[in-house]
Amino acid sequence: MYNTLTITQAIKELESGNLTSRKLTEACLTQIQSLDGALHAFLEVYADEALEQADRSDIRRAEGNVLGPLDGIPIALKDNIMVQNKRCTAGSKMLATYNAAYDATVTKKLTDAGAVIIGKTNLDEFAMGGSTEQSAFGPTKNPHDPDRVPGGSSGGSAVAVTANMCLAALGSDTGGSIRQPASFCGITGLKPTYGRVSRSGLIAMASSFDQIGPLAKSAEDAALVLSVIQGQDNADQTTSDVEVFTPDWKDTVKGLKIGLPRQAWAVKGIEPDVREATEKSLKLLESLGAELVDIDLPYVDEALAVYYVLMPCEVSANLSRFDAMRFGARKQGLPLFETYSESRAENLGSEVQRRILIGTFALSSGYIDAYYVHAKKVQTLIRDGYKKAFESVDLIVTPTAPTTAFKLGEKLSDPLSMYLEDIFTVSANVAGLPALSIPCESDGQMPVGLHFLAPWFEEAKLLSTAKILQEKITE
Ligand code: GLN
Repeated sequence: MYNTLTITQAIKELESGNLTSRKLTEACLTQIQSLDGALHAFLEVYADEALEQADRSDIRRAEGNVLGPLDGIPIALKDNIMVQNKRCTAGSKMLATYNAAYDATVTKKLTDAGAVIIGKTNLDEFAMGGSTEQSAFGPTKNPHDPDRVPGGSSGGSAVAVTANMCLAALGSDTGGSIRQPASFCGITGLKPTYGRVSRSGLIAMASSFDQIGPLAKSAEDAALVLSVIQGQDNADQTTSDVEVFTPDWKDTVKGLKIGLPRQAWAVKGIEPDVREATEKSLKLLESLGAELVDIDLPYVDEALAVYYVLMPCEVSANLSRFDAMRFGARKQGLPLFETYSESRAENLGSEVQRRILIGTFALSSGYIDAYYVHAKKVQTLIRDGYKKAFESVDLIVTPTAPTTAFKLGEKLSDPLSMYLEDIFTVSANVAGLPALSIPCESDGQMPVGLHFLAPWFEEAKLLSTAKILQEKITE
C-alpha cells in the first residue's frame, strides 16, 4: 500500500532504502488498474515509460545523484498540460488525436526533478466546467460516492490523488478548477499567484486567469510540488522574475489575523453541511490562537459576473485557433466556410460553444464598452478591495464551494447553477491572488473544503497555516 503514502512520507521511505520508486510506481499502477474502470480519472496511463523513469530514479538514488525532492515520485498531469509526443486532448473531440509538439514548462521541470509522470487525467472540455461531466470522453466519478461528481474541471487529477493512483497531480485553475474538486474530494488544492507558474504548454482557456497548481494529500506535499514547478520562464512573459517561493513553516497560528468577508459568509446558497463544517474549522483556528475578524470586501459580490464576462471573451479569442486548419479535427470534403463551421460545430461541446458565443458577443462592436470594458473596471475595484483588506488581515477565509459534491447529471442542464458553484473561488483568479482549499473536519457524508486567500506571492503563509490546521484536524 505504498501508494497511500504522502510525498513527504514516501521520500523518507525512499531515503531509508525501505522503498524503491519502482515499487511505489507499481503500487500506483496496480491501483489504477483496479479502480480506474469505475472512476475514470485517467485518459491515458504511461505504464511502461513510468516504470522506466522509476528505474532510472532508483539508479540515481543508489549512486547518490538524487535530482530533487520529487525524484521517483509518481505524479499525474491534467490532460491540458503538454508532454512532448504524447496525446493532449484537453478533454475535447477537437484534439482527440493531437500529439503535443513540446513539453510544457511544468512537465520539463517535473521530469528534470526526477518525477515519474504516470499519465494524463480527465477534465471538462478545455477546462470549462465544474464537474468533469463536460469531458468529451465521459465523466469522472467521486471516489467517496460514485453517483456524485468529483468537481471540476480538474476532476480527474483530484480523483487520481484521492484514490491513491498517484502521490500528487497537477491541475489548472481559471476560476476554481483546482480548489473546487479538491474540496469535493477531500484533498488539498493550491492555485498559485498569477505569474508564479509558467503557462507555457498549458492549453489556454482564459490566459489572464489560468494558473497551474498542485492537487495533493497535504499542504506540505503541495508546497513540495510548487517549489519544483514555480519560476520565471522566458516562454511565458507573465511569469514573475522577482518572487521565489520557499516554504516557511511556522509552528503556531498565534496572532494571525484572519478576515471573514461579510459578503461571502452571507451567501444564501451555502448548504447546512458546508456551513457547519467550515464554522467548526474556524473555531479550531481560533482555539489555536488565530484572531478572526469580520471584514468588508466591497465589489467581491460582482466577481462571479466579472469572471463570466471576461473569461468567455478570452475563451473566444483563445479557441479561434481550433479552426480545423491550424489546429483541430477537420471535417473533410466541404467548401472552405463549411469546413470551418462544421468542424467546430461537430467537435466542440455545447458548453464550449456557449462560451465562445457569449465572448464573441461581449467583444463585438457596440457591446465591448458595456460588457468587456466595464467588467475590466470592476476587476480593478475588486483587486483594490483585496489590497485594502490585506492591510489589516494576514489571510482571508471562505468556504471553497457553497455545496458538497452533487449528483451526476444534477446541474448539467442548468449552466447557471453550475456557475454559482464558483462563487467563492473566482475572485482569487479575478484578482490574481494565491488561494488554497483544505478539507475540514466533517460529520457529513461528503467532504467540505475550507478556502484560504493570501496576498500576492504569499503562498508560504497560506501553506504554513493550512499545514497547522490540517495536522490538528487529522490528530
Ligand atoms: N468552473 C469554472 C468554469 O467553468 C472554473 C473553470 C476553471 O477553473 N478551469 O469556468
